[in-house]
This record gives sequence, C-alpha cells and structure tokens, in this order.
Amino acid sequence: MHEMDCSDAVAKMCDFLDRELSAEEIAMVERHLAECGGCRNAFRWEGSVISLMKQCAQEKAPEGLIGRLMDGLD
Ligand SMILES: [Zn+2]
Repeated sequence: MHEMDCSDAVAKMCDFLDRELSAEEIAMVERHLAECGGCRNAFRWEGSVISLMKQCAQEKAPEGLIGRLMDGLD
C-alpha cells in the first residue's frame, strides 16, 4: 500500500479544499494526519486554513479560491 508522505498530504489537502478528493483519498489524508504530528499541526483547522492555503498557492495557486476563503474567514 502506498504510504502518504508529508508532501503528498499537502497536495491532497489542496485537492480537499477544492473538493476533488474521493472518500478514500480523504481517509488517506486523515490517516496520515493521525500518524504525523507535523502535518497535524500544519493542517489543524482552527486558524490554520490560511497557512495551508499559502502552501497550496505555492503549488498551483487556484484562481479565486484563496480570495473566497479569505472572505469567508474574515
Ligand atoms: Zn506529514
């Protein structure tokens, strides 16, 4: 079985924000977060969506998505 590493987890979380993950992929992310304290800290939802989005923006900068989230979180 493929073991998700931290960069995989970041990429999957970016997809998750775009709602493009299957239930199976979400489960893989959740399993990685359960096992990886670093990602758990990075991806903690309370107040850290912005930092996650910054990581995502470095990878593919989804058009308009960051602005929508910023508006929703403000
Ligand atoms: Zn990790």
